[in-house]
Amino acid sequence: MNSKNVLILGAGVSGLTTAHKLLQAGHKVTIWSKERDGDFPSTSSNAYAMWVPVKIDSDPRVERWADESFSEFEKLSHSPSTGVAMKEIFVLRQTHEEPWYAQKLACFRHARAEEISADYKDAHVLDAAPVIDPPVYLSWLRKEVLAAGGSFVQRTVENFSDCPSEYSAIINCTGLGARQLVGDKELHPERVQVVKIKSNGFDKVVIDDEGPNKRACIVPHDDYIKLGAVFDGEKESLEVDDTLTKDILERCSRMVPGFKAELADVLSVARALRPERALTRVEVEKLADGRSVVHNYGHDGMGYILSHGIAAEIVGYLNAL
Ligand SMILES: Cc1cc2nc3c(=O)[nH]c(=O)nc-3n(C[C@H](O)[C@H](O)[C@H](O)COP(=O)(O)OP(=O)(O)OC[C@H]3O[C@@H](n4cnc5c(N)ncnc54)[C@H](O)[C@@H]3O)c2cc1C
Repeated sequence: MNSKNVLILGAGVSGLTTAHKLLQAGHKVTIWSKERDGDFPSTSSNAYAMWVPVKIDSDPRVERWADESFSEFEKLSHSPSTGVAMKEIFVLRQTHEEPWYAQKLACFRHARAEEISADYKDAHVLDAAPVIDPPVYLSWLRKEVLAAGGSFVQRTVENFSDCPSEYSAIINCTGLGARQLVGDKELHPERVQVVKIKSNGFDKVVIDDEGPNKRACIVPHDDYIKLGAVFDGEKESLEVDDTLTKDILERCSRMVPGFKAELADVLSVARALRPERALTRVEVEKLADGRSVVHNYGHDGMGYILSHGIAAEIVGYLNAL
């Protein structure tokens, strides 16, 4: 392998994971991002950041990337300082049917009646799947990158020609920033409001994607519980909506028997934008000056789920250049 001098644009979960894998593979890595060094972008830091099974028929790589990430996160869960833990995940259902992964995942089961509210017919349960605490995990990744010789610079790129020629390859991990950087019209923001509440001993992830509390979610961590809901709207404002906070607390309290979340429990509220794209863009593009850009953006609600698999794929691309 010939070691390359690589510039990564973006310090979210995609940029950091790619940096970590490239450094482990012997490449030299610099990361440029809009945030001050040590800060993390709002999308990656506010994510629920759980692993659930995904596959997309038109891109078979997605299922493989998710599987590879599961294995990596499972290994990381043995070190608590990474912020990765294996937890029970309940996906509430309005019907009783087998998911596509029922035979594939040994940790899959249907919920027992006493585990779910009467509003639901079933839940697809993963008994132990990765749940990542973003601020802890991103800080851990950043430290790993620094310890392996990577460096961070606060800098916004308007065009790939801003990237000095000393970098023989550029990795585009700019998330929604790719709308400006490469004019990608297929990327759209989806707004999510997240409410952190005090821990109360509840330790399961619960998601309602289709039922009466549709698109609400409960994600417990060591020091807090994250509640959230996706909502529609044209504006990209990250201003918090207090009415929605109340609605999220009520929806989450209805989702699980015995779970209660009240305004007095709230630690903080934030909004974040999810980078929606019909297909995550992971491909090599040749620039006019002969250098290669590897695109790694548009992960939708799968940025963590796919992160390790995609980073390993990019190492393969660079080794082959
Ligand atoms: C509430 C919420 C819940 C989610 N839950 C999950 C989940 O459970 N599981 C999951 O896998 N995913 C989940 N996601 C999705 C996941 O968070 C994203 O897919 C992922 O964080 C995207 O990471 P990224 O690094 O690609 O982009 P970002 O985190 O947006 O980072 C983009 C980076 O690019 C930099 N940048 C942008 N433009 C430029 C430029 N021109 N020049 C230099 N730098 C630039 C920014 O400064 C930033 O550092 C969730 C998202 C949200 C909001």
